[in-house]
Amino acid sequence: MTAPWPTDAASIRARVEQLWARVADAGGDPGGVRLLAVTKGFGPDLAVAAAAAGLVDLGENYAQELAAKAPVVAEAGFEAVRWHAIGRLQRNKVRSLAGVVALWQSVDRLDLGAEIAKRAPGAAVLVQVNVSDEPQKGGCAPGEAPELVARLGDLGLDVQGLMTVGRTGPAEAARAGFAELRSLADRLDLPVRSMGMSGDLEAAVAEGATMIRVGSALFGPRPPREPT
Ligand SMILES: *Cc1c(COP(=O)(O)O)cnc(C)c1O
Repeated sequence: MTAPWPTDAASIRARVEQLWARVADAGGDPGGVRLLAVTKGFGPDLAVAAAAAGLVDLGENYAQELAAKAPVVAEAGFEAVRWHAIGRLQRNKVRSLAGVVALWQSVDRLDLGAEIAKRAPGAAVLVQVNVSDEPQKGGCAPGEAPELVARLGDLGLDVQGLMTVGRTGPAEAARAGFAELRSLADRLDLPVRSMGMSGDLEAAVAEGATMIRVGSALFGPRPPREPT
């Protein structure tokens, strides 16, 4: 086993700097791109270290992990941290997250949106779109997005934008999908475009990402997931 990457605040800050250099090299305006630090798979200590390094947007895939870490980070004094739910979400998990999540990024169907509207009225959401047509990925089909956005708005949710996970494979393979997400968001007049991860953020930034979601480039390889 290789040693984990150092996770003191100074080391994390140095890697954040490197990340912004990548964004700039890709032609992005760092002022126009928000960094969501993905802490999934790591323990609460890492999330606290990320907050101590100045990261204020933290993302988690699994409801249980998010619900466990958020109070630890708050108790460490980082109450300004905003938590983002970015993974596949079951309706029965919404309730446990309702007071915690600042932005629900993976809303891809109406029944999930209805549950969020019930448990967290007026919540900010993104609609996840599957632009790569890979069945293992979450997200509604691009053609379904306009209707879903409208219906979520009818439920009183604050639909701020769209989110997608790029096509698996070389970063350039994801680019056409990112362009598609961008034009879809423009057509729907939605300002937030959450796209790009450690491996493909250059392509996403070049296609107009306003938020990148980065885990391993900041925190190193994730420990294997324990069976739940
Ligand atoms: C895990 C994950 C990320 C971060 O991935 P890295 O490759 O570690 O940067 C971003 N978005 C989603 C939806 C994820 O599941």
